[in-house]
Amino acid sequence: MDKIVSLARRRGFIFPSSEIYGGLNSCWDYGPLGVELKRNVKEAWWRYMVRDRDDVVGLDASIIMHPRVWEASGHVAGFSDPMVDCKKCKMRWRPTDLAEPKCPACGGELTESRQFNLMFKTFMGPVEEAASIVYLRPETAQGIFVNFENVLNTTRKKLPFGIAQIGKSFRNEITTGNFIFRSREFEQMELEYFVKPGADDACLEEWTQYRLNWYKNLGMNPENLRLRAHRSDELAHYAKGCYDVEYNFPMGWSELEGIANRRDFDLTQHAKYSGKSLEYFDEETKEHFVPYVIEPSAGVERSTLAFLIDAYAEEPDKDEIRTVLHLHPALAPYKIAVLPLSKKEILSDYARKIYADLRKCWMVAYDDSQSIGRRYRRQDEIGTPYCVTVDFQSLEDGMVTVRDRDSMAQIRVKVSELSYILAAKLSG
Ligand code: ATP
Repeated sequence: MDKIVSLARRRGFIFPSSEIYGGLNSCWDYGPLGVELKRNVKEAWWRYMVRDRDDVVGLDASIIMHPRVWEASGHVAGFSDPMVDCKKCKMRWRPTDLAEPKCPACGGELTESRQFNLMFKTFMGPVEEAASIVYLRPETAQGIFVNFENVLNTTRKKLPFGIAQIGKSFRNEITTGNFIFRSREFEQMELEYFVKPGADDACLEEWTQYRLNWYKNLGMNPENLRLRAHRSDELAHYAKGCYDVEYNFPMGWSELEGIANRRDFDLTQHAKYSGKSLEYFDEETKEHFVPYVIEPSAGVERSTLAFLIDAYAEEPDKDEIRTVLHLHPALAPYKIAVLPLSKKEILSDYARKIYADLRKCWMVAYDDSQSIGRRYRRQDEIGTPYCVTVDFQSLEDGMVTVRDRDSMAQIRVKVSELSYILAAKLSG
């Protein structure tokens, strides 16, 4: 993990939040490369979950919702973790994270365990009173449930169908750490897939496989991925079944995504609290019922971290070791780097034209400083799949060198065919 943290910091993927003020615990800022990587993760999810399917539509709901939403969902009463304090150094811990009943930081004695609600509270409007309390959403799912009827009426979708959303969530986590794995502000990629009761068990199995394939399709090593079914004593009270997709992180196997059968719990609760019927009418059978829901819920930061860890390699290159990120081209911040062999104007004019042309389709880097070997290394380290090297010969024969990040093989291609060749390589 230290190597990933250092690379992420050094190359501008991830910085501690408010760093010039000493940072803010478990809040992170995404730099020029990190923001591209994260956008690509979200884009890949959206394409796979929404655009490639005709049974899923998207949504972007407000982060601040009516406070009754969180009463109905059970978060006000029950979204809490047990917490203990160290009597000596005052650090706070989740008892479930501790191997022994003493403070891991100083060995001090711990207080009795008490419940701590993880929702961030704030006030809406100018008066700070109980009536104006609102919450920063701790999950994006509830925005989907409260819009179930709106989406149903406006899209005329028939069961089974899903509503997908990507957005920020906030949890006042007691213990944080492991870099961006557990943050207090993070993004979720959630789908609520509504089905007829009875079709739910098979649907849970289908979504589990479909989600596992998303990680594999994006190049994640299957040996670092596993599914773990929740034991009945682990299940949330509303859940009928649940799987975690786990990744073999440096700190051990940990949850990347949860895929749960939430039954009709949420829609039933919102119907009860809002007084609005959230039933579905099945035109074929003429039945009214509340659909069941299967929820694959993934974290953007956890996926991003897992993709970074999975892609990281140190490999021998001649007499040295090169650091390389074998990121899938769909995720790589830059797809291509254009590298003119010299800064001479005649060559840079030519190279800049190529650069301008490629930028119409892709995120492309341009780098003309230091030796070509160093520049290849820099691009390898940030995961750029292809480098295009422009040399003086190019001015005469209209050809450039394309270097492959993974094999380091180089081929000479015509500039007139470059876009076409790169498009074929990048798509795979
Ligand atoms: P954990 O047990 O690790 O706290 P959870 O079971 O509470 O996670 P869910 O409520 O199922 O998590 O949330 C779905 C997904 O959202 C998680 O699989 C994870 O990818 C992401 N997620 C949840 N909490 C955080 C967090 N504090 N920081 C980053 N990602 C998170």
